[in-house]
Order: sequence, then C-alpha cells, then structure tokens
Amino acid sequence: ASFEDFKLNKQLLNAVAEAGYTIPTEIQEKAITPVLAGQDVMGIAQTGTGKTAAYVLPMLMKLKYAQGNDPRALILSPTRELAMQIEENIRLFSTYLDLRTVLLYGGLGPKTQKEQLAKGCDIIVATPGRFLDLYLEGEINTKSLKFLVLDEADKMMDMGFISKIHRILEIVPRKRQNLLFSATMSELVRKIAGDFLEFPTVIEV
Ligand code: AMP
Repeated sequence: ASFEDFKLNKQLLNAVAEAGYTIPTEIQEKAITPVLAGQDVMGIAQTGTGKTAAYVLPMLMKLKYAQGNDPRALILSPTRELAMQIEENIRLFSTYLDLRTVLLYGGLGPKTQKEQLAKGCDIIVATPGRFLDLYLEGEINTKSLKFLVLDEADKMMDMGFISKIHRILEIVPRKRQNLLFSATMSELVRKIAGDFLEFPTVIEV
C-alpha cells in the first residue's frame, strides 16, 4: 500500500513524501479512510505506531484552507510534550496548506498564547486545563469546531482529566466529528468513549 491510495491531495502527498514516509503504518492504513469519510473513530494504538499522522493527515485534508478566524479542530493532549509533538506533525504536513495552528499548554504565562489566538487559527492543540482557562476568559470561540480529538485518552483518565473533558464536551457544538486514541482500553476509557463518540469505527493495532 502507499499514501497515494488515499484520497489525499497533492499538497499533503508532497509533504508526506518530504517527511520520508513511503509506506502507511497499520493504524494509518485502517484509520485514514474512515476519518476522511467523516466517521467517528476509536483507535487503540501505542505511541510509535504512527497514530498521529493517522488522524492529522485526513483532518488536514478535510480542513484544507483557512476559513474565518475561529478554530475548526481541537486536539486535546494529556501532556505538554505530546501536544508539542502533535503540533510538529501538523506543521510538517501542512507546509503546502494554508492553515494556522495554535499550541496551548500550562506552566507558563498565557500572554503569547492569547496573542496567537487573537490573530485567528484553524487548529488548536491543547492540554485540557489551559484550553478551559482560556475559553473561560473568553479567548476562544468554540462555535465553529468540527473536529474533536482526544489523544492518549488512557493517560488523560490516569491524570484525572475526566471532569475537564466533560466540561469541554459541554461547550463544543453537538454536531462534530470525534476521534479518540488510546494505548489501552480501560473501563474509564470505555466510559469517555461512550460519552463522546457516535457509532465509532473501532480500530485496534
Ligand atoms: P507516532 O506514533 O504518531 O508518535 O509516530 C511515531 C514515529 O513514527 C514518528 O517519529 C513519526 O514521524 C514516524 N512515522 C509515522 N508514520 C510513519 C510512516 N508511515 N513512515 C515512516 N515513519 C512514520
């Protein structure tokens, strides 16, 4: 199989080739098509399997170009380190697309993040606490969100983010596409998946 088999555009395929990716990994093989088709997806995959590109590539394909100034995709990560890796992946693959990504995490003052949000963005990669803080300060309009991704959902549950995730689910539009990735399948992950996903395609690698 090759990346050319997916319904991705030239801009994305060029960025994928420049990243040195030639063969899709198993999770990419299984997830890219349902995400492109607009389905909710639950992916059980460890870090190192290529799970990031498995959702970032079809998400970028669906967002394609900037549309207004409000974010259309929100990717939630349990840690700053993972959030930074996700943002790097997005930057790598969106080289030839016109999309703006803002990275939000705690542990430092919010001034620069607020300035970036004020300029407008298409994608937010965030840790749940800092996202909620900035939302409650009126810095983020969630009305245009079309994609919600929970990455490393098991780690989010282990870190006690469940109530923050529920709060976030209350402030995003009802009609949206949901993606959840987790290395393991625990009772809490099953619960959050049930609260969050609609008729998901379940992929295990
Ligand atoms: P992830 O599981 O998303 O953290 O990805 C693990 C590592 O594999 C990252 O360094 C990616 O850049 C790399 N990677 C992901 N997909 C591919 C692919 N299809 N071909 C080569 N490297 C890949």
